[in-house]
Amino acid sequence: MTQKNTSPKCGYVAIIGKPNVGKSTLINRSLNKKLVITSRKPQTTRHRILGIKTKGNAQLLYLDTPGLHTKEKNILNKYMNRAARSVLHEVNVVVWLVCRNQWGSDDEFVLKNLKQVTTPVILAINKIDQLKSKAELLPFIDTLKTKYSFADIIPISAKANLQINVLEKAIIHQLPEQPFYYAADKITDCGDAFVAAEMIREKLMRQLGQELPYDTLVTIDALKHKSKIVNISATIFVSKTNQKPIVLGTKGNRLKRIGTQARLDLEDFFGKKVFLQLWVKVKTNWANNAAFLDYFGHTS
Ligand code: GDP
Ligand code: MG
Repeated sequence: MTQKNTSPKCGYVAIIGKPNVGKSTLINRSLNKKLVITSRKPQTTRHRILGIKTKGNAQLLYLDTPGLHTKEKNILNKYMNRAARSVLHEVNVVVWLVCRNQWGSDDEFVLKNLKQVTTPVILAINKIDQLKSKAELLPFIDTLKTKYSFADIIPISAKANLQINVLEKAIIHQLPEQPFYYAADKITDCGDAFVAAEMIREKLMRQLGQELPYDTLVTIDALKHKSKIVNISATIFVSKTNQKPIVLGTKGNRLKRIGTQARLDLEDFFGKKVFLQLWVKVKTNWANNAAFLDYFGHTS
């Protein structure tokens, strides 16, 4: 652990923002490692750290933060909103990711929730690589300044690696002085099964896009490390019978693609060959089934 003259800093960071704004890209960029995070599972009982970034004498603990949902139409959404709000209170700093051209009612909803917490909020405006000139951003920044008292407003590009250092410094500025919680070379404290489920889910989302029902669930039925290979068996649960062929694709080709892409990422993560078996099953209306949610660790 390298420590310079100053005391170490360490704390929790929540990256929030609507889908496709670049949250996963940002975390991967900061960690310099592909650790794809798409989790929509609420965790109210304990923090689950998705990514650990050690930079000089600071350690940033990126947390699993469920998204805020404008429609509390089923039990799952209610769980998720409750979990999301509690995370906002518990972290040391919130990074709210927005896009220059896409301010909408979802963002207003997040803002309303942020107004109820005292945690410092850094606003990061992503995808500035798409701008012709920086001046384009100024009116947007001026408007945002009137909406909330942000600790910082930082234009970035997660994909083009612009200003990520500046953002990390701003985050570190908000962290409390305390020793590191984790060894400096650790990049996640999630178990292998969790990481595997996330990587499969991410590929599902990439393949299906808007077609993917948000209540699709991936479970890992078996994960065994052998000396040169990891054997993984996973099930994709959809909530309606007609969603199953969508996930499978013609002659099962889509599922095959999902499996191949997930396997490549998993091999990169584990540093070994991976044998991945994927199943698709229908679990009707699980998003409203409290018993099923409990089974998978969602707490009320
Ligand atoms: P998430 O849903 O918030 O986790 O968003 P992702 O990280 O999955 O990113 C959504 C899409 O935006 C992907 O296609 C990314 O490659 C793209 N993206 C992320 N950051 C940037 C950026 O800085 N510039 C551009 N042009 N695209 C980006
Ligand atoms: Mg993501």
